[in-house]
Amino acid sequence: MANYHIHRIFSSIQGEGRNVGRPVTFIRFAGCNLACRWCDTHKDERMLLTEDQILNRILFYGNKSVILTGGEPTIQHELGVLVQKLKDAGMWVALETNGIKAPSCQELFDYIAVSPKSHYLSRYLDNIMIHKANEVRIVAETDEITAFCKTMRSRIEAENYYISPLHSDGRIHYRRALRLLTKVNKIMSDVMPPWCLSIQMHKIIGVR
Ligand code: SF4
Repeated sequence: MANYHIHRIFSSIQGEGRNVGRPVTFIRFAGCNLACRWCDTHKDERMLLTEDQILNRILFYGNKSVILTGGEPTIQHELGVLVQKLKDAGMWVALETNGIKAPSCQELFDYIAVSPKSHYLSRYLDNIMIHKANEVRIVAETDEITAFCKTMRSRIEAENYYISPLHSDGRIHYRRALRLLTKVNKIMSDVMPPWCLSIQMHKIIGVR
């Protein structure tokens, strides 16, 4: 039986992207292969749990949907074993990943959301990154993201593409996100569907 580095398992609703409002249990893994400056994952708090221990906690919360998030889930060894266990228990299982690494168990997921980080462009170009997903979400950090959005759009085939406002220094930067969204859609006016805004609803209503 494998062990997984877990930061926290908790019940909530999905707050962003296509599945906003869906009741889910989040498995928040510890550790990441990137180090974004605004990251809200407390890298030092972690516990080691087996698949059975994780499944018991999932069943305790009673949600039928599970989202694997981070930290970065794809750096966990034996991720496929855990996902198969959740699927065997009848769960809808989604992955939230930074997309640097394509998981070997990609076909097991019911939904994949990729959130590439623009300040790590060279890492994406150097790695065998993920190339297919259900949605792509890019945080509106700086004006640089317009070119990054174009590059990621050409590299990741998805059904929906979103821009999210940056949350930093206790503020959510909506205006910048809207300005960059308009700019990105102007630059990519020839591709469909257009980029849309994904607000982080859980941060607005104050749920984790
Ligand atoms: S990719 Fe996500 S989990 Fe990793 S450092 Fe950046 S914000 Fe944190």
